[in-house]
Amino acid sequence: MPLQIVHHPDYDAGFAANHRFPMSKYPLLMEALRARGLAGPDALNTAAPAPASWLKLAHAADYVDQVIGCSVPEKIEREIGFPVGPRVSLRAQLAAGGTVLAARLALRHGIACNTAGGSHHARRAQGAGFCTFNDVAVASLVLLTQGAAQNILVVDLDVHQGDGTANILGNEPRVFTFSMHGERNYPVRKIASDLDIALPDGTGDAAYLERLATILPELSAQLRWDIVFYNAGVDVHAEDRLGRLALSNDGLRARDKMVIGHFLAQGIPVCGVIGGGYSTDVPALAARHALLFEVASAYA
Ligand SMILES: [Zn+2]
Repeated sequence: MPLQIVHHPDYDAGFAANHRFPMSKYPLLMEALRARGLAGPDALNTAAPAPASWLKLAHAADYVDQVIGCSVPEKIEREIGFPVGPRVSLRAQLAAGGTVLAARLALRHGIACNTAGGSHHARRAQGAGFCTFNDVAVASLVLLTQGAAQNILVVDLDVHQGDGTANILGNEPRVFTFSMHGERNYPVRKIASDLDIALPDGTGDAAYLERLATILPELSAQLRWDIVFYNAGVDVHAEDRLGRLALSNDGLRARDKMVIGHFLAQGIPVCGVIGGGYSTDVPALAARHALLFEVASAYA
């Protein structure tokens, strides 16, 4: 069985090519996956929009209604970084539904990945930092509510701190949130995860991987996790416009292998989401995101 991949053509909300958020990375990632032979019909699963009842497990009911009704106040739209029109609204519902589907596929097959997701700056009350709904928080709470998981670990390796996830899940003892990120990156005011590791600018492959290799056994020693959500943001890359940690493509590949290999070796399912990645060279960026799927497919 090939790696199960969740996608939807409407993950791409069709922003202008010069928008600060590189929306075209979504179709280009699918192109990269097809070119690598990873996107056959037996691999692809189509995301469905998350119903409001799922979204409201993680987010304030009035905010969910505002996003679905495309009536988000301008002040919040500015914090998100784009207006929430019909396409952005649909995309946010699809990405959250996609991560729920990927989590279910991971529980069934050991590993599965969403070609979107990792919107970790969205807090309970509102979105922020290019994140509308927090798909990993939504999926965690859906699994808990449905009794599909009792203990969940979030491993967030996007270069930015997972403040929204920490905000939503801070009072949820059944989910442990771990974020390893650039100390000097957005958000300025970080919200404490259950465990945060802040790395200095220019950390590079060797120091980064050494730190990660130390922490992974500590995380898995804590509890028997039913599932791990892995935010594989590629904005840790040296050529990322917003990152500062100076990882190479080899470093990214080694990181993904370390995380996925570590948990799967213990029989713990892994649900991968792509997280952040910002570059004006969008084909190169899409190829960076494709690394997660290349690595994961070797374990499927
Ligand atoms: Zn990021």
